[in-house]
Amino acid sequence: MSQAPEVAGNPYAAELAAAKKAVALAARLCQRVQRGILQSDIQSKADRTPVTVADYGSQVLVCLVLKKELPAHSFSIVAEEDSKDLREDGAQEILEHITTLVNETIVNDGSYNMSLSKEDVLAAIDGGKSEGGPSGRHWILDPIDGTKGFIRGDQYAVALGLLDEGKVVLGVLGCPNLPLKSTNKNNCSSSGDQIGSLFFATIGCGAQVEALEGSEPEKISVCSIDNPVDASFFESFEASHSKRDLTSSIAEKLGVQAPPVRMDSQAKYGALARGDGAIFLRIPHKSYIETVWDHAAGSIVVTEAGGMVKDASGNDLDFSKGRHLDRERGIIATNKHLMPLVLKAVQEAMKEEQ
Ligand code: AMP
Ligand code: MG
Repeated sequence: MSQAPEVAGNPYAAELAAAKKAVALAARLCQRVQRGILQSDIQSKADRTPVTVADYGSQVLVCLVLKKELPAHSFSIVAEEDSKDLREDGAQEILEHITTLVNETIVNDGSYNMSLSKEDVLAAIDGGKSEGGPSGRHWILDPIDGTKGFIRGDQYAVALGLLDEGKVVLGVLGCPNLPLKSTNKNNCSSSGDQIGSLFFATIGCGAQVEALEGSEPEKISVCSIDNPVDASFFESFEASHSKRDLTSSIAEKLGVQAPPVRMDSQAKYGALARGDGAIFLRIPHKSYIETVWDHAAGSIVVTEAGGMVKDASGNDLDFSKGRHLDRERGIIATNKHLMPLVLKAVQEAMKEEQ
């Protein structure tokens, strides 16, 4: 039986409860905006304003909930957005829109009796200016990870992690479009036809999933496959985010039979953590430097589910360097049996490419 980490001696129990609440509320705002985009005509689909509004709105709600729920904490948040563009003259309408959306989401939720002004919204967004780093505590937020999936009506995630003295100690991934039920037919641990998964993990306490709308949490673990022939692998939906010639050559070296499962955002880390697939490969193009908010929450969900997350050289990811990860190219996540084999294949394929 699963046990809620809040009652299992979890040193980050209060932070976890606040982070889950923050992500669930932000995800509700995103869901509402995504429904609007999907219902709109083709011409207005090309307008990126709704994504921008949801991105900022999600960040405002996460900052607000964390501050409300953890009032005694000094607050540092490393997040993708800042308010510079919203302070320009032409942005008043968008700012108004964000403020209305945030306030309506708060009213519908009913947890807080408050209304934010436009200045409050700008101040909340600027809470995300922190540079992170190796000392102290820093929240790491991607308010909408996978904006391209969000626009298409596919997968995206609200991803929130907590860094403590340079290590990720907590992660929450809200995946509004990911079914709660595992897509792996051999893994029947989750049940029902519900859409919307909330993954969460704290260091040393395992990883769990529950319905985004709330349900009994279930402990999750990565698959136990040890023969790559039986493995399937995840990669980005967007071809420009990961080198497909390289990932297909890696899959071929491993003898992987199944076609790649292409999915946007850190929903891939959640799906891997509950055994929907065995391997996650991400090999960006040379000039791309990874940001911490694209991997902090997802990586702890996988490691606490018994998996491993490494760079292409086999090193752990270093989240203590600020807003970016080290320059080492490539991120691999899989279980402990497959990691040495996958790393070998990755390194061989990269060498051949050079
Ligand atoms: P995914 O859906 O897994 O490909 O990840 C989405 C994230 O990829 C976004 O949040 C971006 O931060 C990041 N991204 C944007 N451009 C690139 C790129 N050229 N290469 C790799 N990742 C990118
Ligand atoms: Mg992202």
